[in-house]
Amino acid sequence: MSLAIYHKRRKFTKTPEPKGLVASKNKKRFVVQEHHASHLHWDFRLELEGVLKSWAVPKGVPTKEGVKHLAVQVEDHPVEYINFHGIIPKGQYGAGKVLIWDKGTFKLLEQTPKSIKVLLRGKKLKGVFVLFKFQPQNWFLFKTSLTAR
Ligand code: MN
Repeated sequence: MSLAIYHKRRKFTKTPEPKGLVASKNKKRFVVQEHHASHLHWDFRLELEGVLKSWAVPKGVPTKEGVKHLAVQVEDHPVEYINFHGIIPKGQYGAGKVLIWDKGTFKLLEQTPKSIKVLLRGKKLKGVFVLFKFQPQNWFLFKTSLTAR
């Protein structure tokens, strides 16, 4: 895993976002950040492989079963980003306000190159969620019922 793209896109003298390193520990946390960038979206991030695997979800994480929302995979973020909220200044990458919409821990139920299934234990998001890749960067994110595993 690498944070090269994350680091390349940001000027850490100008943004309050953390620089961060690839972590050696995994606390299996997740966060959803509401990001008031040029287009409002929600960033869904899972702590996996020493980084936060990240998706931008234009319509937000669906809380009802059977509703699929597009989730566009974006660059890996450092695990330190899990607590980030604040204002990314004008002119900087992703400029705008970032709020923590939900956070918690997860259990990884399944991971293949094309799908990730997690049990989320957040304040707002609880239950089994699936990310399903259908194009190189485009995934569907949806809630599903708990299956025996
Ligand atoms: Mn974002």
